[in-house]
Amino acid sequence: MSLTSPSYVRDLLAQHKIRLKKSLGQHFLVDANILKKIAAAAQLAPEDTVIEIGAGIGTLTQELAQCAGRVIAVEIDGRLIPLLQEHLRPYPNVVVVHQDFLQFDLRSVISERKLSIVGNLPYYVTAPIVEKLVEAHEILKSATLLVQHEVAEKLCAIPGSRDASAITIFVQSFADVQRLFSVSRHVFFPQPEVDSMLVRLQFCERPKFCAPEDIFFKVVRAAFNLRRKTLKQSLTCSPLLGLPMEIALEALERAQLDPKRRGETLSLEELDRLAQALATVLARRNCAAPRSR
Ligand code: SAM
Repeated sequence: MSLTSPSYVRDLLAQHKIRLKKSLGQHFLVDANILKKIAAAAQLAPEDTVIEIGAGIGTLTQELAQCAGRVIAVEIDGRLIPLLQEHLRPYPNVVVVHQDFLQFDLRSVISERKLSIVGNLPYYVTAPIVEKLVEAHEILKSATLLVQHEVAEKLCAIPGSRDASAITIFVQSFADVQRLFSVSRHVFFPQPEVDSMLVRLQFCERPKFCAPEDIFFKVVRAAFNLRRKTLKQSLTCSPLLGLPMEIALEALERAQLDPKRRGETLSLEELDRLAQALATVLARRNCAAPRSR
């Protein structure tokens, strides 16, 4: 029987006395057409290694196994592992890993090519997963992720616009982000309360900023952590930076930015300009880098 039949999945879980956990974001895809569209959107080749985040009972994994050379299916819930292994038995190119993806060492995967990532993400942990992927950007080719609409809006927002947040800048500094298609809540079992969107992060060869990375991200976090504060206030009051006023003003002047502007309205290019200016001012004054990460 097919894993895309909700009644089959319901009976299978009942037979194994498994009650799905909302707290683990357990909403399985049960639409053959959507599964094929997601696997196609991941643009996998037979030479590719793909890591699936949250494999569940293997529904999407089976599709991925038919497109990629090797699939590493990571699943946190030990109760699902026997089912996952059973459903993937016909696919010798799949390895099942019982682990929290946040603990999974991406750099331990040996591959001649950069890795592809695919996941129908557990919603409760989307932000840390995306941060982990961005931190591993140099070994990743792309990430094709099914996320809540609201999260997709954030990831794809134009920096400086109302929807943008620190994660927008973080992701777009290393990847081109594309909204692919909407996925209705009706194609999941059990049905979640919100619709989803498939997004694709195509990682770039080089970051899109020139400033030293630690200073760039401190500036970004300061700008967004203290929303509705002026740039001058963000740079001096943020626990991440806590700059003396004269340094903050000199950096802002050098970057040709109005100290009264709000940090979250800056484009990626302006944030980079500010971080570069701050790096220069600190170096000229022979100051240590700001406080902490
Ligand atoms: N891939 C399946 C599908 O598309 O039907 C299941 C997707 S379901 C939205 C999310 C899956 O991620 C669940 O099976 C859940 O147990 C698993 N999961 C939740 N948190 C996880 C984590 N931190 N690491 C790995 N898997 C996780």
